[in-house]
Amino acid sequence: SKVLLNVENLSVSFNTYAGEVKAVRGVSFHVNRGETLAFVGESGCGKSVTAKSVMRLLPKRNAEIKKGSIITYDGEDVLKMDNKRLTQLRGGDISMIFQDPMTSLNPTMKIGNQIIEALKIHRNMSGKEAKDEAAKLLDIVQIPEARKRLSAYPHELSGGMRQRVMIAIALSCSPNLLIADEPTTALDVTIQAQILDLLNKLKEELDTAIILVTHDLGVVANFADRIQVMYAGEIVEEGTTREIFNESRHPYTWALLNSIPKVNQKDQDLRALGGTPPDLLLPLKGCPFAPRCSKAMAVCKMHHPSKTGKSDTHSVRCFLEHPNAPEIDYDAMRRG
Ligand code: SF4
Ligand code: MG
Repeated sequence: SKVLLNVENLSVSFNTYAGEVKAVRGVSFHVNRGETLAFVGESGCGKSVTAKSVMRLLPKRNAEIKKGSIITYDGEDVLKMDNKRLTQLRGGDISMIFQDPMTSLNPTMKIGNQIIEALKIHRNMSGKEAKDEAAKLLDIVQIPEARKRLSAYPHELSGGMRQRVMIAIALSCSPNLLIADEPTTALDVTIQAQILDLLNKLKEELDTAIILVTHDLGVVANFADRIQVMYAGEIVEEGTTREIFNESRHPYTWALLNSIPKVNQKDQDLRALGGTPPDLLLPLKGCPFAPRCSKAMAVCKMHHPSKTGKSDTHSVRCFLEHPNAPEIDYDAMRRG
């Protein structure tokens, strides 16, 4: 089937001393083979937790995927996988790269050996074979003088080069799905663009599906096929990249669009929006965005908006979709 990953009604809670934090609340989405889906929202919106749930990488100590959640990878129930199958899934079917490569690379081990180790484990390669393949992978991620770099330690490389090494390790198992959680956030703007270009190129060459997790709607414009905007543990709007940029209907999406730094303007990071997301420890009443929403109506504070479909690919959770809601100049709202 063309659907690679299917998630339905995913809810995740963290049990803390203060109580149950409902970090993800009934999230449903799918990823097709070879496509790129972006999760966009502020920190704490549930995007990383959703991404980690897919690989069952949440901390066992206090995280709980709630009953009724469904995650299937290529038709197989991820929530029923035993440890052996999970290890295969993580090293063979799905790979993940994170914001800070230093935390995932072993600082005391040459990068070549780290890639070779991954190849031996996940692809059963012999030493010689793995070394050749490691050099090839560094070449694929455009690290100059790849073979020579195999003997470098992580601290000898720049941040951008280290992220390329992480991508090489992630690709070492030829994953069908690559999950990239804020992969460029720690890098400066030029390097950021280079890494995104690289991921784009790899996506086309290797036909890998990608989930890109980011707080920055700006980075996904030329990258994602579809976007899901998350807020307070829910998907508040989803659509194709064109639909989100040109036809978005949710006030939070407009705030994200308006926070993309424009030319000659320094980053303002949702400053225009103000306020903070709700505390997910407390029960939510009404639309979680209501306290920050310039379009909030009386109904928004009392009831939770359900999903309205705008097209096969586009849906939105907002009472402005109600036939009795006031008229809005949508184009003006998107322009900010
Ligand atoms: Fe704003 Fe109401 Fe829509 Fe929530 S439901 S985003 S408060 S208009
Ligand atoms: Mg995060």
